[in-house]
Amino acid sequence: MSSQRCPSYYNATIKQETHYPSLAGELSTDVVVIGGGLTGVAAALELAEKGYKVVLLEANKIAWGATGRNGGQVTGSLSGDQAMTQQLRKKIGSEAEDFVWNMRWRGHDIIKQRVEKYQIDCDLKFGHIQTAYQASHMHELTAMYDEAHRRGMGEQLTLVPKDEVPNYLGTTLYHGGLLNRRNMHLHSVNLCIGEARAAEQLGVQLFEHSAVVDIKDGAAATVYTANGKVTANAVLIAGNAYHKLARPQLRGMLFPASLGNCATVPLSEAQVEAINPHDLAVYDCRFVLDYYRLTADKRLMFGGGTNYSGREPKHVAKELGASIARTFPTLKGIDIEFAWAGMAGIVLNRIPQLGKVSPHVYYCQGYSGHGVATSHIMAEIVAKAIDGELSEFELFAGMHHWRIPMNEWVGNQALALGMMYYQLRERLR
Ligand SMILES: Cc1cc2nc3c(=O)[nH]c(=O)nc-3n(C[C@H](O)[C@H](O)[C@H](O)COP(=O)(O)OP(=O)(O)OC[C@H]3O[C@@H](n4cnc5c(N)ncnc54)[C@H](O)[C@@H]3O)c2cc1C
Repeated sequence: MSSQRCPSYYNATIKQETHYPSLAGELSTDVVVIGGGLTGVAAALELAEKGYKVVLLEANKIAWGATGRNGGQVTGSLSGDQAMTQQLRKKIGSEAEDFVWNMRWRGHDIIKQRVEKYQIDCDLKFGHIQTAYQASHMHELTAMYDEAHRRGMGEQLTLVPKDEVPNYLGTTLYHGGLLNRRNMHLHSVNLCIGEARAAEQLGVQLFEHSAVVDIKDGAAATVYTANGKVTANAVLIAGNAYHKLARPQLRGMLFPASLGNCATVPLSEAQVEAINPHDLAVYDCRFVLDYYRLTADKRLMFGGGTNYSGREPKHVAKELGASIARTFPTLKGIDIEFAWAGMAGIVLNRIPQLGKVSPHVYYCQGYSGHGVATSHIMAEIVAKAIDGELSEFELFAGMHHWRIPMNEWVGNQALALGMMYYQLRERLR
């Protein structure tokens, strides 16, 4: 895979390209962050705000990984919420439900504050609709709506019955939806680069083309790249499904799923008005879902499907073109100007994974395709832990995770089978 940026819509519309040096020589610092995606950059910024000296090492470019390839949707769909609540009940009892509910929205607040505080130009917009692909999906949307009402967030949500869907989306595909005005969508690369620049201004030293090849932990931790090394009191591994570090400890915990995404040519005003007049981000309720939205220059960005073999899908544009035509027949045959794929780190029980692999080395990964908000939440929790505030970190570090003690290929096949099971179960509902 090239270490340069992929040919995505995001990368063609970067506001200010990064040109950080490659690490050469020896440094010592408080914290080393490995990985320059949203997790690593958000954690570096959080730590710099707390006064820590931080070095961030990115193997490729800032926002090169999933952060540079995603759908840009910031939603309250915390992955693994049910499994998380179940496990938390055993630890914090009846507070578990409140904890998970509040966590759903915490990433939104962090992102909004960052964008305002550091004046990050990332096309941030509010408005999202989760759609019912099957009639039975309305039960879960109604349950979410009822819970939001019970918790005082009701005015931000509207339950949309089937006959009102055309007011929001120009498609007959859905059985209804849940409109959410708190959810957002944004340009993920410009957000990440904006946060990286804010971190740099606070003294973080950033390096690109600086892959960490080894970590040794002793009295302090030292990380090694091809041409340099950095010693620190704490190291955070934030490499998502793209890294192979700390293998004995992390093997079999996270599985790379290749997801596709694309952007059409800009739509005409009439097309925008016909398909998505309120500029909403959209995804449906299926396990393997379609997700789409309009970009700032009014392209339809449309993602969906998975290829759990861990390879990049070969025909992303062709596959997604068919999905676009199925969703919006009036756009059948529209030119797709950008098509790309990226790796999401999938966790079997979907609960984000935080923990330590050795006394000074932390890790933070596994948002199962829902990481724009979650990366910020987890980065905050791990930064607090490094700063000595351990309570939330320990809750996550203590979560039980399934591990498939096989090589990655076998693990991916097992995951693919699991996905097929869930998809079949969904069709039978
Ligand atoms: C196609 C697609 C669509 C998605 N859509 C959405 C969405 O709409 N909403 C949502 O919430 N989430 C979405 N996600 C998920 C979301 O993008 C991710 O959860 C999130 O970006 C993860 O951020 P990260 O920083 O943990 O990982 P990444 O962004 O993958 O960053 C990891 C970085 O670590 C670097 N790295 C790896 N190994 C090393 C090493 N040894 N040394 C140094 N650096 C290293 C990599 O080069 C990479 O830049 C989507 C993901 C994909 C792939």
